[in-house]
Parts: sequence; structure tokens; C-alpha cells
Amino acid sequence: MSSSPRFRFAPSPTGFFHVGGARTALYNWALAKRLGGTFVLRIEDTDEARNQPEWTQGIIDALSWIGIRQDDPTFEGPYFQSEYAQAHIDAANRLFEQGQAYYCDLTGEQVQERAKINGKQGYDGYSRDRGLEAAPGRVLRFRVPEGQTIVHDLVRGRVEFANEVIEDFVLLRGNGSPMFLLANVVDDITMRISHVVRAEEHLPNTPKQQMIWDALGQQPPVWAHVPVLVNEQRKKLSKRRDKVALEQFRDEGFLSEAMINYLMTLGWAPAGDVEIVPWSTIERDFRLEDVNHSPAFFDLKKLASFNGEYIRAMSVDEFIQASQPFLTGDNVPWTPAQFDQQKFRAMAPLAQTRLVVMSELPELVDFLFLDEPIIDEQSWSKTFSSADAVEMLNDAIAAFDTGLTWDHDSLKLCVEVAGSARGLKLGKAQAPIRVAITGRTIGPPLFEALELMGHDQVMRRLRAAVERLAGA
Ligand code: GLU
Repeated sequence: MSSSPRFRFAPSPTGFFHVGGARTALYNWALAKRLGGTFVLRIEDTDEARNQPEWTQGIIDALSWIGIRQDDPTFEGPYFQSEYAQAHIDAANRLFEQGQAYYCDLTGEQVQERAKINGKQGYDGYSRDRGLEAAPGRVLRFRVPEGQTIVHDLVRGRVEFANEVIEDFVLLRGNGSPMFLLANVVDDITMRISHVVRAEEHLPNTPKQQMIWDALGQQPPVWAHVPVLVNEQRKKLSKRRDKVALEQFRDEGFLSEAMINYLMTLGWAPAGDVEIVPWSTIERDFRLEDVNHSPAFFDLKKLASFNGEYIRAMSVDEFIQASQPFLTGDNVPWTPAQFDQQKFRAMAPLAQTRLVVMSELPELVDFLFLDEPIIDEQSWSKTFSSADAVEMLNDAIAAFDTGLTWDHDSLKLCVEVAGSARGLKLGKAQAPIRVAITGRTIGPPLFEALELMGHDQVMRRLRAAVERLAGA
């Protein structure tokens, strides 16, 4: 084994980038970085339907978003499995010539028939000693030796497999094309991979693949199978049931740093009590030996809380910069002419304290730019179902119009005083004002927002709300 370790990430393109794949890629990347090794990207595109250039680009873009960049010296590739078909076939021929593989002419149905008769699942080795040569329709099968196969896995420890329960598996299909098990190993050998860190679902493949490494006279790699990701019901994440596409999280305004940090904690924890740690700490401390082997819960709530923390940790300038893509385009309710960057800058630190994902930004600040707030009818009717709430608007109109200093402390005091006269705590007293001004029950800190909007616009909105209520 060469002194500098070589890791790889070997996705089969699917048209979206699964969060589990992202976690696997990050584990490999963190190790390659810490150990001064290489991260090889290999696109396993042998399935024709998966051979779409935009899917490959999607993988490269998604990796780049989580900090695994092609222009980094640690990165090598991408290589395309489809370009190595000859090497796969050559390896298969070698195994045949060495007697470690043999041809078989049974069809799938015949194999099943025999299994039924034998009362034993799987292929029974029918052609092992029939000496068949290659011919169309004949599959090439690996001759599984007797004994047992011991896989040393850095996450799962020593895993023993009895060879008698492993059937003579197929290396080449009847049409001569290589199977995944073979192609994957031959590519790892060709690319001098020293560490195979991948999803747990591949563990059952590992004894078979280790046999291929051995049969080809190669020292098998270091294996590590990282735990599956499960949802709230402890079911394996599935794209049909769960939100799993990294692109979707990106587009919804999860920050890449939060995503990276959260994904790393799925099966691993930084030292001490803190989970929110910078990449430099991850790169310094991440060890496969510390990865847990029980299924890891992909907890959307926890991810959201990581994201909120990362949003709040930004400087205001960074936050303003990160906000820009979310302030234009089809998802914002204001016109470019209505948008006021100065007002947004002033509002940004307030919005920053409340945001969970960046895509929620427009609904937090839209009231600042629109002539009329967008009213959420449900919140409106709920808030104004009590007479006190309606009266609070009138109280606020009267109090705000007394020539008070227009700053958030004075505004808050006015509302507090008016509220307590009605026996209302501040939260209850300010709710109708918030709905009148912003149209919603949830928003940025209210009194700071009122200060920012200025006396005239606030008064207009309060009066418009009173009129709306009178008309209702
Ligand atoms: N192409 C395989 C997959 O996407 C990866 C196999 C491996 O990592 O060895 O599941």
C-alpha cells in the first residue's frame, strides 16, 4: 500500500444528490484532508440510463457546495466507470483462466427451479465442474472457496461471513457486460484505492468483493461501512417518503456550513459537549474508529436548529451578502422598484435573529417594501377575535400620535402601558399591532421594525387595519 492514502466516492448518478451520499463523501473528504491523501471521484455510470452528463454535473455541483471542490489538490477525477469496461472484462478473463471463475448456461428461471428442488436458496454451483467455455448467453460466475471470509471494518469491527452461504455470484452477464461487484473492485484496484468508506448497505457485498481482491492477487483495502440514515419512524430514508435531495436543502436556503457540520454528526460526534464546530476541527478530529454503527437519525428539526445557529453566527455583512439571492426572483412579493436595499440593511440584523432557513427571509421582511402588508387571514381573524385586540389598535394609534420620540424603547413602553391598562401582558398587547403592520403573527422584533418603518407608514397601517376591521 502506498504511503499516501487514497479514498474514493463512487456515486451512481440518480438525478439528485442523496444526503446519505453527501455524508459519505464528507467522511472520505475529511479523512483524505487530515491524512494528506487523495479523494477520488468515480462516477459509476455503467447503467446506460444513468449516463446523463447533466447528472454528473449535478454531482460535481453538489460536492462543490459542501466544500469538496474539483480545483482542490486533494481532489482527483472524475473518472467514469463506463470508460473502464475493458479492464473489467480483462480481470474477469484472468479469473476464468486462473480457474477462479467459470461459465454457466443456466437461465435465471432454471437457477430458481433448481433452488426450489434443492430446497436451498440461490445458485447451487451446477456448472462448477462442467468446463464450459465463454459463449453468448453464458454468465461468468466466481468460484467461492470454502471456509470463511473475515472482513476487518473500521466502523463495525471484525465481521465474519461463512462462505457456504455465499453463492457463486455473477461477474459477467450473459451479454458479456460486467456486474457492479466486479467493476467496482477492478476500478478500486486500477485507481489504487487504499480505503473504501461507504454506506452500510454495501456490507453484504464486501466478502464477495474481498474475495475478488484476493483472487486478483491484491491486498484488499481498509473497509469502513458507515451507518444508514433513518427517519423519525426509524425507517431507512427513502426518496419517496422523505426529503433527501441535497439540492432541495440548498435551494431552501440551508447554509452549506450548517449542512456540512450536521451531516458529519450523523454517526459521529466531535469531542466534548459541542456539536457545532468549524470544518477545521472536523478535519483535525474525525476518525472512522469513532463512528457509531447504529442507524443515524436524520433529524430535520436538529438540522434547522444548526442552520439557525449558523445564520446567527454570521456577521451582519456576511448575512446581508448571503441574503442577496433570496431577495430577488420569482419568490419575492415585491417589485425591484419597491425593494430598498438601505431599509433591508437596517432590518437585516433583526431578521437574522429570527431566521431558520434563508428562503423564509422574504416573508419576514416583505411588509417593509410593500404598500400594503400581505395579510394572513387565519392569523388576522384569530388575533382580532377579542375586543381587546381591536381596542389595542386604537390605543396604539392614540399613543403613537402624541409626538413621542420615535424609537423602539418608547414605542414598546407605550404598548406596555396601554396593554397593562387592559390587563394584557406585552406579548398579547403587541400581537394585534404586529398583525396590522406585517400581516402575520410571526416576524422580526416588532418595536425595532416600527422604528425603522417610521411614524407615517406605521400610522397608515394601523388606521387601515382599523378600517378593515370596521368593514368586516
Ligand atoms: N455506486 C455505488 C453506490 O452508489 C457505490 C459503491 C461503493 O461505494 O463501493 O451505491
